[in-house]
Amino acid sequence: MFFIHGKKTARIKRDTYHQYACKNCKDFDLDIRVYREYFHVFFLPFFPIGYKEVKIRCNNCGEPKWIESVQKHYEKTSRTPFYLYGAAILLILLIVSCVVVEFTM
Ligand SMILES: [Zn+2]
Repeated sequence: MFFIHGKKTARIKRDTYHQYACKNCKDFDLDIRVYREYFHVFFLPFFPIGYKEVKIRCNNCGEPKWIESVQKHYEKTSRTPFYLYGAAILLILLIVSCVVVEFTM
């Protein structure tokens, strides 16, 4: 059976951070994006895999930043959205409804 599946990356959170000055331009405006890889089947997200990845970039000059405390904070606080389990939830619902139909017939 032909099966399209693989890995994709979703952006699960976007935020701005104003407590840290960019060393390059001295601006307090950082852009924070949190990514999570997920496994997809026919391009439907099935379940998340791997770790969250936090990318920080200066909004003013575009310089990438590595601020460990901020990255850790966002790794902890950004929750994986439930739609990354979309196909798995659909599959479970399908199985449950089949079972229910089987028992009520
Ligand atoms: Zn900057």
